[in-house]
Amino acid sequence: MTGHCSVLERGSGASLGIGMDLLTPKTVDITADGVSLSGDLTAEELGLTDADVSIRGTLSVGLDLRSVERTICLTGVVEGTAVHQCVRCLKDFESPLAFSVRAAYERDTKAAAPVAKHDAPRKKKAAPAVETKLEEPDDDLYYYAGEQLDLAPMLREQVILASPMHPLCAEECLGLCAQCGKNLNEGPCRCATEPTGNPFQALRGMKEKL
Ligand SMILES: [Zn+2]
Ligand SMILES: [Zn+2]
Repeated sequence: MTGHCSVLERGSGASLGIGMDLLTPKTVDITADGVSLSGDLTAEELGLTDADVSIRGTLSVGLDLRSVERTICLTGVVEGTAVHQCVRCLKDFESPLAFSVRAAYERDTKAAAPVAKHDAPRKKKAAPAVETKLEEPDDDLYYYAGEQLDLAPMLREQVILASPMHPLCAEECLGLCAQCGKNLNEGPCRCATEPTGNPFQALRGMKEKL
C-alpha cells in the first residue's frame, strides 16, 4: 500500500488528481465543488512512531476538501486498528480506531512553514454573505504555504488525540498481582488463594506478630 490515493470527484466531469497524493493535495485541485480523497496510510507516512500510538496495518483515510474563498475546509474519517498496552496488566491489546476530522487551512502569508493553531486573529472575510462552518470553534485551524497542503502533521495529531491516555484492555481488568506479578485475568494466583502457602506471606505474618 502506498500513500497515493484514488480521487473521487464531485460536481464537474473534469478529471482531477492524477498523481495527486493523499497527504499533499495541490491547492489548485481543490475547488469550490470539492474533491474527495481516500486511501490507506501507514503510521510512517503520518510520522507516527510507536511512542505516539502503535498502529496495526494501515489507516484508512477518507477526506473531503473544499475551497471556500481563501480557506480550504477539510472533513474526513480515519479508521484503523491501534495496539495499546494495558496500564493495569501490561498486555498489548488491539482496539479499533475510528474518528472524524475537521480542519480549516488558510494560506500563511508571513511564515514559510505551516503552523498549527496559530493565535493570530482571523482575517476579515471579503464576502460576509457566505456563511460557512469555519466559524465553528471545533474546526482546527492550520496554515499552509506553497502550492500544496501537508496533511500528515494534522492527521498525526488527530490520531494521538483520539487515543486513550490510560488504555485498559477491559474495564474490569484485574491487573497483575503486586506480589508474584501474575496476570490475574488469567486466574487467581497462589498469593490470593493460599496465603499461608506462600513463604513470604508467612514471614510477613510472623513479623506482624512480633
Ligand atoms: Zn489489562
Ligand atoms: Zn500473586
